[in-house]
Formats: sequence, C-alpha cells, structure tokens
Amino acid sequence: MSTIRIDNVRKSFGGFEVVHGVSLDIADGEFVILVGPSGCGKSTLLRMIAGLESISSGNVVVDDLVINRLPPRERDIAMVFQSYALYPHMTVRRNMAFSLKLAGAPKGDIDRQVQAAAEILDLVSLLERKPAQLSGGQRQRVAMGRAIVRNPKLFLFDEPLSNLDAKLRVQMRSEIKELHQRLRTTTVYVTHDQVEAMTMADRIVVMNAGRIEQAGTPMDLYEKPASLFVAAFIGSPS
Ligand code: ADP
Ligand code: MG
Repeated sequence: MSTIRIDNVRKSFGGFEVVHGVSLDIADGEFVILVGPSGCGKSTLLRMIAGLESISSGNVVVDDLVINRLPPRERDIAMVFQSYALYPHMTVRRNMAFSLKLAGAPKGDIDRQVQAAAEILDLVSLLERKPAQLSGGQRQRVAMGRAIVRNPKLFLFDEPLSNLDAKLRVQMRSEIKELHQRLRTTTVYVTHDQVEAMTMADRIVVMNAGRIEQAGTPMDLYEKPASLFVAAFIGSPS
C-alpha cells in the first residue's frame, strides 16, 4: 500500500531551474508513465523521488510521510535504470542479495527472498551465472530482480528498455506489466517511447520543459489532448 504525493516540487542546478513546481498525486498500485522530450526533467523528477537528487523546494510525500530529507536507503524505493549497473564480478544470486546484505538481513531471509524473486522473474536457472554470461534481456531481468527482492514500496523505472533491441523491448514490456499485475507495486516509469506509454500506462503524464502539460489515461490524452504539444507527442489526430 503506497501512495505518492509530489507537491510543488522544484529543482535548480546552479541557479538554473529545470523542474518548475510539479505537482502530481499517484494512487496506490497505479502504473504511471512519464513521457516528454529529452531534457524536460523526467529523470530529475524520478531522482528526487528516489533521493538521488536533493529537492530545491516542495515536498515528496509517500504514505503521508514527507521523505524529502530521508537518505535513499531509508526510502524503501527501488529504481531500475537503462544501464543495468549489475556488479560484473558477482553472480546473479549475489547481485540480487546485495542490497539485503547491506541492510543486514539474516541469511535465511536473504536466501528466501532471492529465491522468491528469482521464481517470479524466471531467473532460478541463472542464479550462479555472472552478468557477462547473460543476454541483454536476462540482465535487465536481474536488474528488476534486484529491485523487487526488497519488496519496496515503490518502483521507479528510468527508460529501462532503451538499450534493448525492438523484439526484446516488446517482450520486456509485457513482462514488466505482468510483474505489476502480480505485485501491484506503485510504479513511476519514464520512457520517451509513445507505444510503451500508450500500451503500459494506467495514466500518462506528459512533461515539457520542466512542467506537466497534461496527465490522464491513454484514452484521455488521445481523445482530448490539452495542447498541440500533447497531440503531437501522443500522435493523436487533432
Ligand atoms: P530528461 O530525463 O527528461 O531527459 P533530465 O531530468 O535528465 O531530463 O534533465 C533536465 C534538465 O536538467 C536538462 O537541461 C539537464 O541538462 C539538466 N540537468 C540534469 N542533471 C543535471 C546536473 N546534475 N547538473 C546540471 N544540470 C543538470
Ligand atoms: Mg532522462
């Protein structure tokens, strides 16, 4: 059970504001997709939610708790990036166990949670391999395994499929959706791929130049785009 409230959040780098007072409420279990052109502030917003970037003003509230000043590790949020960032010298099992070990979980719990995550993501037969012995899609699944193993409150995905070829991208889309249907973890997913947004999202949030242009269901945005920018981005007829 986790809701996110983003309340008038701003971000400046060296006196230059790149996120201009964004507000957004995300419901428990919702799968929200953030889209918008390169440089519009998608990653910065995600990184502020994760605690990888400080917030210049405003609040990020998760389940009624203001998390602005909590360090990333105490936020109970998992983030998956486009570069898999797996530890090359560790097996899949150790990659997946790493964050639990850091958190000081007992060995029995770690083994159980890794096993459960590996079963969900079909990684059981790959647990003793190293990342170099995996395909791109398998590596991305391990990256997701590392995210779900801690049973986090929120998943944040930052263009997780953009390094994969077209065929694999289609397959991973449905795997991520299946995962979401199974776990119902509240998710914010960044992509610049319209098809991904239209097919995966409960709600799409269109950003442009540090602001939200429009938020709505894929159908809302397609049928009633609030601006030419949204219409062009979604590819709707108006
Ligand atoms: P997106 O993910 O939508 O492509 P970003 O959030 O990465 O956009 O970037 C938004 C804006 O903030 C861009 O103009 C980018 O150059 C700037 N920016 C991002 N990170 C930094 C940083 N660490 N220092 C300075 N400027 C940054
Ligand atoms: Mg980005």
